[in-house]
Amino acid sequence: MMLEALRSIVQAVNAAGNISEALEIMVVRVRDAMKTEVCSVYLRNPETQQLRFSANVGFNNELIGKAIIEPGQGLVGLVARREEPINVEDAYTHDKFVYVPGLGEDAYHAFLGVPIIHQREVLGVLVVQQREARRFDEDEEAFLITMSAQLAGVIAHARATGTVTEGAGSGNARFKGIAGSPGVAIGVAVAKVPTTELRAMPHRESADAAAEREMFRSCVAAVRDDMRRIGEELSGQLPPEEHALFDVYLGMLDDSMLISEVEARIAQGEWAEGAFSNVMLAHVQTFERMEDPYLKERAVDVRDLGRRVLAYMRSGDESPVTYPERAILVGEELTASMLGEIPVENLVGLVSASGSGNSHVAILARAMGIPTVMGAVDLPVTRVDGREMIVDGFGGLVYLDPSQGMQAHFEAVSAQERKISEGLETIRDLPSETLDGHPLPLWVNTGLMADVARSLDQGAEGVGLYRTEIPFLLRERFPSEEEQRVIYREQLQAFAPLPVTMRTLDVGGDKALPYFPISEENPFLGWRGIRVTLDHPEIFLGQVRAMLKASAGLDNLRLLLPMISNVEELESALILIYRCHDELIEEGIDLGPLPPIGVMVEVPSAVYQARQLARRVDFLSVGSNDLTQYLLAVDRNNSRVADLYHAYHPSVLQALQIVADGAHAEGKPVSICGEFAGDPGAVLLLMAMGYDMLSMNANSLLRIKSVIRGVKLTDAQRILEIALQLESSAQVQELLRGELADAGFDNLLRTAYSPLVSA
Ligand code: PEP
Ligand code: MG
Repeated sequence: MMLEALRSIVQAVNAAGNISEALEIMVVRVRDAMKTEVCSVYLRNPETQQLRFSANVGFNNELIGKAIIEPGQGLVGLVARREEPINVEDAYTHDKFVYVPGLGEDAYHAFLGVPIIHQREVLGVLVVQQREARRFDEDEEAFLITMSAQLAGVIAHARATGTVTEGAGSGNARFKGIAGSPGVAIGVAVAKVPTTELRAMPHRESADAAAEREMFRSCVAAVRDDMRRIGEELSGQLPPEEHALFDVYLGMLDDSMLISEVEARIAQGEWAEGAFSNVMLAHVQTFERMEDPYLKERAVDVRDLGRRVLAYMRSGDESPVTYPERAILVGEELTASMLGEIPVENLVGLVSASGSGNSHVAILARAMGIPTVMGAVDLPVTRVDGREMIVDGFGGLVYLDPSQGMQAHFEAVSAQERKISEGLETIRDLPSETLDGHPLPLWVNTGLMADVARSLDQGAEGVGLYRTEIPFLLRERFPSEEEQRVIYREQLQAFAPLPVTMRTLDVGGDKALPYFPISEENPFLGWRGIRVTLDHPEIFLGQVRAMLKASAGLDNLRLLLPMISNVEELESALILIYRCHDELIEEGIDLGPLPPIGVMVEVPSAVYQARQLARRVDFLSVGSNDLTQYLLAVDRNNSRVADLYHAYHPSVLQALQIVADGAHAEGKPVSICGEFAGDPGAVLLLMAMGYDMLSMNANSLLRIKSVIRGVKLTDAQRILEIALQLESSAQVQELLRGELADAGFDNLLRTAYSPLVSA
């Protein structure tokens, strides 16, 4: 069966130790599966566009790595140039056919070549050939195309890691990701070890082989005891075949070969988890390759056994005790709740192989001022631990084992960045208003206690968004009402008398509480924000009570409701809030009047009901992060579509104008608290649209203030008028770039976090 063959080839290719082995496995297995005589891979050099004969079965192998095909030359060159398959019955009769001497191609007539494409770039060509003149059928063509799409990922990965010479550069392995938080970090990678997955275990050196060996032995012994115990408990309850499994497990654990293979690796300085995972994976693969279906199935058992042992190994210490002084946390999927794992004074950078610039972990990183790259899909996370690394949070790039020249370059970039920040400090206490006297107050977004000092330090006039889920994320259970009251009080007190806008719990999407997991097919279209808390009024009521109590005597609280998509949700939430307020007064708590209540406009339906919503509350606040994702149907957390996420999209701009007009028609103020507010170009548009206040992360504040203080409202209005006529994000971007440069802000374009930079 084709699908079965495909799966098993992909598995084998992925398990290969290096790229040449992977290509080797690939060509042999593809040839066998398709019953052809020849299979080859040609890899393209990105600089010269030449195609190198890189792996083959069936031809003269001596030319592997040597034979070169010029761009556009022959059928192979044509496949690469056209970016589509070529399937010919007899290659000799094709007018593009070129004879490569010495290859041994003479005898082969049927030719099918497909391009290997990764993220729109042609990496090479995969070819099968056969003596008999015949046309490969549709199924065969589909199979080869599927194969090549899978191979593309493997090659891109290898190229990025420098294990393939084609265009790998000069030893500075470079990985492209998405700018997550601006700045440059130079440090040492610490791989986040997430699970008991054999495959995810990073390579790491150990300092004490004897201790590692001891630990390994005791974990094996523990699993052996477990197996024996479970086996005994279940004896008589399981059919004999099933029960025999326990003996198989015990047999494997007693296998001195397996144990000594692991111990040999440990003796060579590898840590026990890594050594064990490697050995087990090799065994899993041996079983997977077996033809006999029964034996093949045993791969599952070996893997399971591996996980059990690993679970014991990982249960001791979750993470290294000592961190490098300049640690860069690297993970397959970093989340907001992982940020607390490294002491903040050691943490200089973050790299996540998945996610995008609008993922919550990136937003948090920006608030903390930690340079971050997201969506570095090709980074070999398990191989980077302990290696030198540079995170370029401006360009969204990661460098592994950087040269001295590269380090010097980034140190200079860093110094320049510091200079700009220092220069901005002079405007800290000056008003946020335009040259023609139009005030545009700047507030901050917070979530961590650490934000408070930084925010006050930057001259914030209030908190426009306190993300209450962050203190929730950093815990092991829901905080009690009293625990919450203390947290909120601290926040309110720190800013009093300045207003603090507290958002009710906004979990779901990419923010899962460790103790309240939500598993859904489409989390961003699912149970999130107000939908969760209306279904759990006990959580909502507890939170609102804690907020109201915390505000007693300070009276600087504002309440904000996330993810409102219709009027009913708002009314239900309002009823609960009024109830809390009444109850607390009945309980004798000395509360002031109800705090101002606002609605977040972050769902398209709320845009078109801005007036109806505004009528029922005191203010509106646009969550542009979600609004952009929902208007453009681009998952904010998916690196694959990150370059479609454009807050400058004309549709987003129109929506923002509708919301501002809707709120004002009801006489209510409107603000924006998404990341767009911290974008230097966006500020020009937002002030002209009539936004009454902008709320952003503390690190953007002075940059934005400098833009506001450097322009006139009348200029902004002129720019908005042009912008609203444009038809694409690229045009809007170009317009704003030009205007900012004319106004003397080209420096900011490089160092601010902005769709201008990251798109
Ligand atoms: C938003 O969606 O723009 C917003 C401010 O909320 P969050 O990023 O926390 O979803
Ligand atoms: Mg949101």
